[in-house]
Amino acid sequence: MPKDEFEWIQQHTPAHSHQKRLEEGIGDDAAVYRASSFFDEVVCVDTMIEGIHFKKETMAPYDIGYKALAANISDLAAMGAEPSFYIVSIAIPPHWEDKELSGLYKGMAALGGRYSMDLIGGDTVSSAHELMVSITVIGRVEAGRRLLRRNAAAGDVIFLTGPVGRSASGLKLLLEKGRHASFSSVEERLLSYHQRPEPQVEVGRLAASMTARMALNDISDGLASESFEIAEASGIQMHLEQGLVPIPNEFTDYTPEDYWEWMLYGGEDFELLGTIEAESWDDFRKQAEAAGQKVTKIGRVETGTPGVWLHDGEKIVSLEKKGYNHFSGKEGQG
Ligand code: ADP
Ligand code: MG
Repeated sequence: MPKDEFEWIQQHTPAHSHQKRLEEGIGDDAAVYRASSFFDEVVCVDTMIEGIHFKKETMAPYDIGYKALAANISDLAAMGAEPSFYIVSIAIPPHWEDKELSGLYKGMAALGGRYSMDLIGGDTVSSAHELMVSITVIGRVEAGRRLLRRNAAAGDVIFLTGPVGRSASGLKLLLEKGRHASFSSVEERLLSYHQRPEPQVEVGRLAASMTARMALNDISDGLASESFEIAEASGIQMHLEQGLVPIPNEFTDYTPEDYWEWMLYGGEDFELLGTIEAESWDDFRKQAEAAGQKVTKIGRVETGTPGVWLHDGEKIVSLEKKGYNHFSGKEGQG
């Protein structure tokens, strides 16, 4: 098993492409290729495995389907694309019953329906022990308008679509008590952020309509890790203001030590993290507000050796590049 997922992918990235219409291959949230003079097609795949990404004790079958599709739609959102189609590959072990599998498909259909997505194919095989569900999604964005991680530059405003860390706190509750336990209403909300996260398609679409230079990434592996991805892809420094990073209302009963760990290093919130030229920030924020969406400024891009820093008014802390690394298995559930 490879030690570092990112290095491993780089080793297998082809040196050149054969297809002229390929616009973006490996390296961003999704691949992009020219489909017509008006649209680019955007495609990506994401897989969830029982015991690694979910357990029957943490997620109902409906939630597994919902979340597997949400994670994929989130990658489309991070490219500024609108979702269109999905294809489902599923490996089924003996202990999964038809009724549970129907639940899983209902979860996918519920979210897919909200975005007018069609299920257009898939593959069904058996598995020895664990359920695996792998979804490929296809979307589209106006030709040339995709949002990339490498677009950030010094002076840009860093923004976030919503508070992060709630999914990680929900997972902690689920691992402690199991999903059938009784929870307070605040805890129930935290669980739902883990079980049925909402992809930020509307803000992604708004970003694709902006003429300003912007970078965009979705938060699947944590705020720190995704900030690093933008920093490294763009060759810049991400400076986050601790006082500006929104703290979820649900965290009032937790200690800052707990929630900052979830907020910086917990994954699967599926909010969007982006950067935009400073002169266009107000316009973007107002347009988002007018569309019923919220974007919050959380910092500024600076020049220098790529990295991520957190300022708290007194000191500046350099953040670690840890997050949900799928292969090390140390930081969460990957
Ligand atoms: P995300 O977290 O946004 O889903 P990943 O970190 O999983 O993205 O992947 C980073 C990039 O590497 C993406 O462009 C993805 O398509 C590509 N990638 C991931 N795994 C593989 C693989 N096994 N073979 C080829 N490309 C891959
Ligand atoms: Mg992504």
